[in-house]
Amino acid sequence: MARECMRHHDLVIIGGGATGMTAGVYAARARMDVLVLEALLPGGQLNNADLIENYPGFPEGIMATDLVELMEKQARRFGVKIERAEVEVLQPRENDFLLQTSAGDICAGAVIVCTGGQHKHLGVPGEREFAGKGVSYCATCDGPLFREREIVVVGGGNTAIDEALFLARFARRVFVVHRRDQLRAEKILQEQAFANPKIEFLWSSVVTEIRGKEFVEGVMLRNLKTGESRLLAAGAVFIAIGMQPTVGFLPDGVARDDFGFIITDRSMRTSAPGLFAAGDVVSGSARQLTTGVGEATIAVLSAQQYLDSTSAKKT
Ligand code: NAP
Repeated sequence: MARECMRHHDLVIIGGGATGMTAGVYAARARMDVLVLEALLPGGQLNNADLIENYPGFPEGIMATDLVELMEKQARRFGVKIERAEVEVLQPRENDFLLQTSAGDICAGAVIVCTGGQHKHLGVPGEREFAGKGVSYCATCDGPLFREREIVVVGGGNTAIDEALFLARFARRVFVVHRRDQLRAEKILQEQAFANPKIEFLWSSVVTEIRGKEFVEGVMLRNLKTGESRLLAAGAVFIAIGMQPTVGFLPDGVARDDFGFIITDRSMRTSAPGLFAAGDVVSGSARQLTTGVGEATIAVLSAQQYLDSTSAKKT
């Protein structure tokens, strides 16, 4: 027998980062009965960020914590309910969705997934200690803070090489530390990086420790072929070894790419009717604050169309 819900909302947004809160504002202003569920604290990736300089409207930049506070205030002003609950299972049903959460069952006419993902960590000494003090997972966000400095990028995929190319615009020198002697990144990116005189590759090497006093001052490297260790002076370390999407609650039938990110169309529709996704959790995402809020807007417009079409069928 189908589980009955004590609570039913037009739209449930899973994830209370900048993307989820933007979706909340748009949905509330469209007079939808909307609920945002957040497992931890509102703000998502912004909680790991420092000064945001690439969000429009703040010519001097804005501290990430201040931006989160303003976004939450704006969402609440329009009556968005933001609740702390972890979604454990999302089950599409004939006429709605059942969300089994840490705060009980909730039903929704449509759902937008804005859960983003977690940057993979190296797990070496100093990584956690210097987070935001020279250790970063986003070159677009933090790169311009390290003009004319020596910078280390860890990884050999598209993200690492993209970030190395971007950082080379500001840095004195960029060292790409990769654990193998061959890159995983697309050939065209490789060619651009090899041709850039500011980028140097340290092959078959791993970072074993990040060192400094108040801020990062260098990394300990180990060459996996020779076993030799050495200290490399650097003012920042960008870790780009991949990201894991937060999608553990999704049903198997929802299309995802090889890395687990959700595949959507340009209207942010997933392969499951009534289920939408926006932000970093989407396959091919640019992983920027501005793209997340843009996709959130599109997802709400699509969800509204979907809800209108399903209610028209019922009447
Ligand atoms: P990725 O392709 O999985 O690459 C991760 C890189 O980090 C690999 O080189 C891997 O080494 C290395 N790595 C993993 N764990 C490590 C560890 N513990 N220590 C040291 N190195 C480690 O991830 P990604 O670069 O973030 O890309 C993810 C997806 O986003 C891909 O589909 C990518 O194409 C896409 N993307 C596209 C663009 C673009 O098109 N411009 C830009 C960014 C991302 P191995 O090679 O030895 O495994």
